[in-house]
Amino acid sequence: MSKTGVFIETTDQEIKQSVFGVISAAAAGGGEVTGFLLDGRADKYKDQLAACGVTELVALEAKDIDFSKSPQATGEALAKGATDFGISALLGVSSPTGNDVLARAAMALKAPLALDCMDVDFTANTVKKSHFSGKAVATLEMTGALFVCGIRPNSFEAVESPVTIKITPHTVEVENSDAIIVTEVQAADSSRKDLTEATVIISGGRPMASSDNFKILDECARKLDAVVGASRAAVDAGYAPHSMQVGQTGKIVSPKLYIGCGLSGSVQHFAGMKTSKVIVAINTDKDAPIFTKSDYGIIGDLFEVVPALTKELEKQ
Ligand code: FAD
Repeated sequence: MSKTGVFIETTDQEIKQSVFGVISAAAAGGGEVTGFLLDGRADKYKDQLAACGVTELVALEAKDIDFSKSPQATGEALAKGATDFGISALLGVSSPTGNDVLARAAMALKAPLALDCMDVDFTANTVKKSHFSGKAVATLEMTGALFVCGIRPNSFEAVESPVTIKITPHTVEVENSDAIIVTEVQAADSSRKDLTEATVIISGGRPMASSDNFKILDECARKLDAVVGASRAAVDAGYAPHSMQVGQTGKIVSPKLYIGCGLSGSVQHFAGMKTSKVIVAINTDKDAPIFTKSDYGIIGDLFEVVPALTKELEKQ
Protein backbone atom coordinates (compact mmCIF):
# COMPACT_ATOMS: atom_id res chain seq x y z
CA MET A 1 0.00 0.00 0.00
CA SER A 2 1.31 3.48 -0.85
CA LYS A 3 2.26 5.79 1.99
CA THR A 4 1.56 9.52 2.06
CA GLY A 5 3.57 11.64 4.47
CA VAL A 6 2.24 14.79 6.12
CA PHE A 7 4.39 17.44 7.79
CA ILE A 8 2.61 18.07 11.10
CA GLU A 9 3.17 21.80 11.48
CA THR A 10 2.72 23.02 15.03
CA THR A 11 2.62 26.35 16.79
CA ASP A 12 3.75 26.91 20.38
CA GLN A 13 0.78 25.10 21.80
CA GLU A 14 -1.00 23.08 19.16
CA ILE A 15 -1.18 21.57 15.70
CA LYS A 16 -1.94 24.18 13.04
CA GLN A 17 -5.64 23.78 12.30
CA SER A 18 -5.30 23.48 8.53
CA VAL A 19 -3.00 20.45 8.94
CA PHE A 20 -6.10 18.34 9.67
CA GLY A 21 -7.55 19.15 6.21
CA VAL A 22 -4.26 18.08 4.63
CA ILE A 23 -4.38 14.80 6.58
CA SER A 24 -7.93 14.21 5.32
CA ALA A 25 -6.76 14.86 1.75
CA ALA A 26 -3.98 12.30 2.25
CA ALA A 27 -6.35 9.76 3.84
CA ALA A 28 -8.86 10.19 1.00
CA GLY A 29 -6.08 9.09 -1.38
CA GLY A 30 -6.50 5.57 0.00
CA GLY A 31 -2.92 4.95 1.16
CA GLU A 32 -1.56 4.93 4.69
CA VAL A 33 -0.93 8.32 6.25
CA THR A 34 2.36 8.88 8.06
CA GLY A 35 2.69 12.08 10.08
CA PHE A 36 6.11 13.67 10.59
CA LEU A 37 6.40 15.65 13.81
CA LEU A 38 9.44 17.67 14.81
CA ASP A 39 8.45 19.35 18.06
CA GLY A 40 8.84 16.35 20.37
CA ARG A 41 5.22 16.33 21.57
CA ALA A 42 3.97 13.15 19.93
CA ASP A 43 2.08 11.99 23.05
CA LYS A 44 0.19 15.25 23.27
CA TYR A 45 -1.07 15.13 19.68
CA LYS A 46 -1.48 11.43 18.97
CA ASP A 47 -5.23 11.16 19.70
CA GLN A 48 -6.10 14.17 17.53
CA LEU A 49 -4.04 12.77 14.67
CA ALA A 50 -5.45 9.25 15.01
CA ALA A 51 -8.98 10.72 14.86
CA CYS A 52 -8.43 11.94 11.32
CA GLY A 53 -6.53 9.01 9.86
CA VAL A 54 -2.81 9.14 10.76
CA THR A 55 -1.70 5.51 11.24
CA GLU A 56 1.91 6.23 12.14
CA LEU A 57 3.37 9.30 13.80
CA VAL A 58 7.08 9.58 13.23
CA ALA A 59 8.71 11.73 15.90
CA LEU A 60 11.82 13.01 14.14
CA GLU A 61 14.87 13.83 16.21
CA ALA A 62 18.42 14.85 15.37
CA LYS A 63 21.34 15.08 17.76
CA ASP A 64 22.13 18.65 18.91
CA ILE A 65 19.53 20.18 16.55
CA ASP A 66 16.69 22.45 17.61
CA PHE A 67 14.31 22.23 14.64
CA SER A 68 12.40 25.34 15.72
CA LYS A 69 15.52 27.38 14.99
CA SER A 70 16.53 25.79 11.69
CA PRO A 71 14.21 25.53 8.66
CA GLN A 72 17.09 23.95 6.73
CA ALA A 73 17.52 21.14 9.27
CA THR A 74 13.72 20.71 9.39
CA GLY A 75 13.52 20.31 5.62
CA GLU A 76 16.43 17.87 5.56
CA ALA A 77 14.99 15.82 8.43
CA LEU A 78 11.63 15.63 6.63
CA ALA A 79 13.41 14.47 3.49
CA LYS A 80 15.27 11.77 5.42
CA GLY A 81 12.04 10.69 7.12
CA ALA A 82 10.25 10.50 3.77
CA THR A 83 13.02 8.31 2.35
CA ASP A 84 13.38 6.08 5.41
CA PHE A 85 9.62 5.43 5.62
CA GLY A 86 9.03 4.82 1.89
CA ILE A 87 6.77 7.83 1.31
CA SER A 88 5.43 8.40 -2.22
CA ALA A 89 4.00 11.90 -1.63
CA LEU A 90 4.98 14.40 1.08
CA LEU A 91 2.31 16.96 1.90
CA GLY A 92 2.03 19.96 4.18
CA VAL A 93 0.12 23.18 4.58
CA SER A 94 1.14 25.99 2.21
CA SER A 95 1.73 28.35 5.13
CA PRO A 96 4.89 30.49 5.28
CA THR A 97 6.58 27.83 7.45
CA GLY A 98 5.18 24.97 5.37
CA ASN A 99 6.35 26.49 2.09
CA ASP A 100 9.79 27.11 3.55
CA VAL A 101 10.45 23.61 4.87
CA LEU A 102 8.66 21.72 2.06
CA ALA A 103 10.84 23.51 -0.49
CA ARG A 104 13.95 22.55 1.48
CA ALA A 105 12.73 18.95 1.76
CA ALA A 106 12.06 18.79 -2.00
CA MET A 107 15.53 20.16 -2.66
CA ALA A 108 17.13 17.52 -0.42
CA LEU A 109 15.05 14.79 -2.07
CA LYS A 110 15.59 16.18 -5.59
CA ALA A 111 11.84 15.71 -5.92
CA PRO A 112 9.27 17.83 -7.82
CA LEU A 113 7.56 20.49 -5.70
CA ALA A 114 4.24 22.32 -6.09
CA LEU A 115 3.01 24.83 -3.52
CA ASP A 116 -0.40 26.43 -2.91
CA CYS A 117 -2.23 23.48 -4.50
CA MET A 118 -6.01 23.26 -4.31
CA ASP A 119 -6.32 19.58 -5.16
CA VAL A 120 -4.20 16.47 -5.40
CA ASP A 121 -4.83 13.15 -7.13
CA PHE A 122 -2.62 10.37 -5.78
CA THR A 123 -3.61 7.89 -8.48
CA ALA A 124 -2.71 10.12 -11.41
CA ASN A 125 0.07 11.89 -9.45
CA THR A 126 -1.35 15.28 -10.39
CA VAL A 127 -2.00 18.50 -8.46
CA LYS A 128 -4.16 21.51 -9.29
CA LYS A 129 -3.00 25.12 -8.89
CA SER A 130 -4.68 28.42 -9.54
CA HIS A 131 -2.98 30.89 -11.90
CA PHE A 132 -3.50 34.43 -13.26
CA SER A 133 -5.40 35.65 -10.18
CA GLY A 134 -7.66 32.62 -10.28
CA LYS A 135 -8.63 32.92 -13.94
CA ALA A 136 -7.01 29.58 -14.84
CA VAL A 137 -6.45 26.31 -13.04
CA ALA A 138 -3.41 24.28 -14.08
CA THR A 139 -3.11 20.53 -13.61
CA LEU A 140 0.51 19.56 -13.02
CA GLU A 141 1.78 16.03 -13.40
CA MET A 142 4.34 15.22 -10.74
CA THR A 143 6.93 12.80 -12.06
CA GLY A 144 9.34 10.55 -10.17
CA ALA A 145 9.04 8.19 -7.23
CA LEU A 146 8.12 10.92 -4.75
CA PHE A 147 6.64 14.41 -4.99
CA VAL A 148 6.27 17.23 -2.48
CA CYS A 149 3.13 19.31 -2.31
CA GLY A 150 1.91 22.27 -0.23
CA ILE A 151 -1.86 22.49 0.11
CA ARG A 152 -3.65 25.85 0.31
CA PRO A 153 -5.21 26.12 3.82
CA ASN A 154 -8.88 25.09 3.99
CA SER A 155 -8.87 23.51 0.51
CA PHE A 156 -9.88 20.26 2.19
CA GLU A 157 -12.29 19.84 5.04
CA ALA A 158 -10.98 17.92 8.04
CA VAL A 159 -12.99 14.70 8.21
CA GLU A 160 -13.08 12.30 11.15
CA SER A 161 -11.65 8.95 10.14
CA PRO A 162 -10.43 7.25 13.33
CA VAL A 163 -7.60 4.73 13.10
CA THR A 164 -5.12 3.14 15.47
CA ILE A 165 -1.94 5.16 15.60
CA LYS A 166 1.58 4.12 16.54
CA ILE A 167 4.32 6.50 17.55
CA THR A 168 7.74 5.81 16.07
CA PRO A 169 10.67 7.85 17.36
CA HIS A 170 13.20 8.20 14.55
CA THR A 171 16.61 9.80 14.75
CA VAL A 172 18.08 11.24 11.57
CA GLU A 173 21.45 12.72 10.80
CA VAL A 174 21.26 16.23 9.44
CA GLU A 175 23.85 18.93 9.16
CA ASN A 176 23.79 21.62 11.81
CA SER A 177 23.65 24.36 9.18
CA ASP A 178 24.06 27.90 10.42
CA ALA A 179 23.02 29.40 7.06
CA ILE A 180 19.69 30.47 8.57
CA ILE A 181 19.06 30.49 12.30
CA VAL A 182 15.76 31.75 13.68
CA THR A 183 16.70 33.90 16.63
CA GLU A 184 13.33 35.36 17.53
CA VAL A 185 9.69 34.91 16.58
CA GLN A 186 7.44 37.89 17.19
CA ALA A 187 3.85 36.80 17.62
CA ALA A 188 1.25 38.80 15.71
CA ASP A 189 -1.45 40.61 17.66
CA SER A 190 -2.96 37.71 19.60
CA SER A 191 -6.44 39.25 19.40
CA ARG A 192 -6.37 38.66 15.64
CA LYS A 193 -6.32 35.05 14.57
CA ASP A 194 -4.59 33.86 11.40
CA LEU A 195 -6.74 34.71 8.36
CA THR A 196 -5.55 31.67 6.42
CA GLU A 197 -6.80 29.37 9.18
CA ALA A 198 -10.22 31.04 9.50
CA THR A 199 -13.44 29.26 8.60
CA VAL A 200 -15.37 32.56 8.63
CA ILE A 201 -13.95 35.91 7.47
CA ILE A 202 -15.57 39.34 7.50
CA SER A 203 -13.60 41.88 5.45
CA GLY A 204 -13.82 45.64 5.12
CA GLY A 205 -12.99 47.79 2.11
CA ARG A 206 -12.21 51.43 1.39
CA PRO A 207 -15.51 52.79 2.80
CA MET A 208 -14.49 51.63 6.30
CA ALA A 209 -12.83 55.08 6.26
CA SER A 210 -10.81 54.63 9.49
CA SER A 211 -9.18 51.97 11.64
CA ASP A 212 -11.63 52.86 14.38
CA ASN A 213 -14.56 51.86 12.19
CA PHE A 214 -13.13 48.35 11.88
CA LYS A 215 -14.47 47.88 15.44
CA ILE A 216 -17.91 47.17 13.99
CA LEU A 217 -16.41 44.29 12.03
CA ASP A 218 -14.53 43.11 15.16
CA GLU A 219 -17.78 43.04 17.12
CA CYS A 220 -19.58 41.07 14.44
CA ALA A 221 -16.57 38.75 14.08
CA ARG A 222 -16.71 37.89 17.78
CA LYS A 223 -20.31 36.70 17.38
CA LEU A 224 -19.47 34.68 14.26
CA ASP A 225 -16.15 33.34 15.55
CA ALA A 226 -14.73 35.01 12.46
CA VAL A 227 -11.44 36.70 11.59
CA VAL A 228 -11.41 40.23 10.18
CA GLY A 229 -9.78 40.94 6.82
CA ALA A 230 -9.37 43.99 4.61
CA SER A 231 -8.97 45.04 1.00
CA ARG A 232 -5.76 46.60 -0.22
CA ALA A 233 -7.52 49.94 -0.53
CA ALA A 234 -8.27 49.83 3.20
CA VAL A 235 -4.71 48.70 4.00
CA ASP A 236 -3.08 51.32 1.76
CA ALA A 237 -5.19 53.99 3.43
CA GLY A 238 -3.83 52.88 6.81
CA TYR A 239 -7.14 51.59 8.20
CA ALA A 240 -5.79 48.05 8.69
CA PRO A 241 -2.34 46.39 8.83
CA HIS A 242 -1.01 44.48 5.82
CA SER A 243 -1.35 41.21 7.77
CA MET A 244 -5.12 41.64 7.30
CA GLN A 245 -5.00 42.13 3.54
CA VAL A 246 -6.73 39.54 1.41
CA GLY A 247 -5.90 39.20 -2.26
CA GLN A 248 -3.27 38.81 -4.91
CA THR A 249 -0.70 40.73 -2.87
CA GLY A 250 -2.13 39.72 0.49
CA LYS A 251 -3.32 36.49 2.07
CA ILE A 252 -4.90 33.66 0.10
CA VAL A 253 -7.89 32.42 2.07
CA SER A 254 -10.50 29.75 1.59
CA PRO A 255 -13.04 30.00 4.42
CA LYS A 256 -16.49 28.42 4.55
CA LEU A 257 -18.05 31.88 4.69
CA TYR A 258 -16.62 35.18 3.41
CA ILE A 259 -18.53 38.39 4.12
CA GLY A 260 -17.27 41.35 2.08
CA CYS A 261 -18.32 44.75 3.45
CA GLY A 262 -17.85 47.68 1.08
CA LEU A 263 -15.74 45.78 -1.44
CA SER A 264 -16.12 46.55 -5.13
CA GLY A 265 -15.12 43.02 -6.18
CA SER A 266 -11.77 43.67 -7.87
CA VAL A 267 -10.02 40.74 -9.58
CA GLN A 268 -7.04 41.28 -7.30
CA HIS A 269 -9.16 40.91 -4.17
CA PHE A 270 -10.98 37.89 -5.59
CA ALA A 271 -7.65 36.26 -6.42
CA GLY A 272 -7.25 35.83 -2.67
CA MET A 273 -10.71 34.60 -1.69
CA LYS A 274 -12.57 33.24 -4.70
CA THR A 275 -12.33 29.67 -3.39
CA SER A 276 -14.43 30.65 -0.34
CA LYS A 277 -17.36 28.23 -0.11
CA VAL A 278 -20.03 30.92 0.38
CA ILE A 279 -19.53 34.62 -0.43
CA VAL A 280 -21.81 37.33 0.94
CA ALA A 281 -21.46 40.93 -0.28
CA ILE A 282 -22.73 44.09 1.40
CA ASN A 283 -22.59 47.11 -0.91
CA THR A 284 -24.59 50.30 -1.39
CA ASP A 285 -24.29 50.11 -5.18
CA LYS A 286 -26.64 47.55 -6.71
CA ASP A 287 -24.42 47.47 -9.82
CA ALA A 288 -21.17 46.76 -7.91
CA PRO A 289 -19.23 43.95 -9.68
CA ILE A 290 -19.00 42.00 -6.43
CA PHE A 291 -22.68 41.10 -6.68
CA THR A 292 -22.05 39.12 -9.87
CA LYS A 293 -19.48 36.98 -8.04
CA SER A 294 -21.27 36.44 -4.72
CA ASP A 295 -23.69 33.78 -3.52
CA TYR A 296 -25.73 36.31 -1.51
CA GLY A 297 -25.89 40.08 -1.84
CA ILE A 298 -27.20 42.74 0.50
CA ILE A 299 -27.73 46.17 -1.08
CA GLY A 300 -27.19 48.50 1.84
CA ASP A 301 -24.87 50.62 3.92
CA LEU A 302 -22.38 48.46 5.79
CA PHE A 303 -22.58 50.85 8.76
CA GLU A 304 -26.24 49.87 9.12
CA VAL A 305 -26.18 46.26 7.93
CA VAL A 306 -23.20 45.01 9.99
CA PRO A 307 -24.41 46.36 13.39
CA ALA A 308 -27.90 44.99 12.61
CA LEU A 309 -26.36 41.58 11.88
CA THR A 310 -24.35 41.71 15.13
CA LYS A 311 -27.53 42.58 17.04
CA GLU A 312 -29.37 39.62 15.53
CA LEU A 313 -26.48 37.29 16.37
CA GLU A 314 -26.50 38.55 19.97
CA LYS A 315 -30.07 37.29 20.32
CA GLN A 316 -28.99 33.72 19.56
P1 FAD B 1 -13.30 50.32 -3.91
O1 FAD B 1 -12.86 49.71 -5.18
O2 FAD B 1 -13.17 51.74 -3.68
O3 FAD B 1 -14.75 49.78 -3.60
C1 FAD B 1 -15.52 50.20 -2.52
C2 FAD B 1 -16.92 49.64 -2.68
O4 FAD B 1 -17.67 49.94 -1.52
C3 FAD B 1 -17.70 50.24 -3.86
O5 FAD B 1 -18.24 49.18 -4.64
C4 FAD B 1 -18.83 51.05 -3.21
O6 FAD B 1 -20.03 50.98 -3.93
C5 FAD B 1 -18.97 50.37 -1.87
N1 FAD B 1 -19.42 51.24 -0.77
C6 FAD B 1 -19.16 52.56 -0.57
N2 FAD B 1 -19.68 52.96 0.61
C7 FAD B 1 -20.29 51.88 1.15
C8 FAD B 1 -21.01 51.66 2.37
N3 FAD B 1 -21.18 52.63 3.28
N4 FAD B 1 -21.54 50.42 2.61
C9 FAD B 1 -21.38 49.42 1.69
N5 FAD B 1 -20.71 49.58 0.53
C10 FAD B 1 -20.16 50.79 0.27
N6 FAD B 1 -6.75 44.68 -3.73
C11 FAD B 1 -7.00 43.84 -2.73
O7 FAD B 1 -8.03 43.94 -2.05
N7 FAD B 1 -6.08 42.86 -2.40
C12 FAD B 1 -4.93 42.69 -3.09
O8 FAD B 1 -4.14 41.81 -2.73
C13 FAD B 1 -4.66 43.56 -4.18
N8 FAD B 1 -3.55 43.42 -4.91
C14 FAD B 1 -3.35 44.24 -6.00
C15 FAD B 1 -2.24 44.04 -6.81
C16 FAD B 1 -2.04 44.85 -7.91
C17 FAD B 1 -0.84 44.59 -8.78
C18 FAD B 1 -2.96 45.89 -8.20
C19 FAD B 1 -2.75 46.76 -9.41
C20 FAD B 1 -4.04 46.10 -7.41
C21 FAD B 1 -4.26 45.29 -6.29
N9 FAD B 1 -5.37 45.48 -5.46
C22 FAD B 1 -5.62 44.58 -4.46
C23 FAD B 1 -6.25 46.65 -5.57
C24 FAD B 1 -7.52 46.39 -6.33
O9 FAD B 1 -7.32 46.59 -7.71
C25 FAD B 1 -8.64 47.36 -5.88
O10 FAD B 1 -8.20 48.68 -6.05
C26 FAD B 1 -9.06 47.18 -4.42
O11 FAD B 1 -9.31 45.81 -4.15
C27 FAD B 1 -10.33 47.98 -4.15
O12 FAD B 1 -10.63 47.92 -2.80
P2 FAD B 1 -12.11 48.14 -2.28
O13 FAD B 1 -13.01 47.16 -2.94
O14 FAD B 1 -12.03 48.15 -0.80
O15 FAD B 1 -12.41 49.64 -2.70
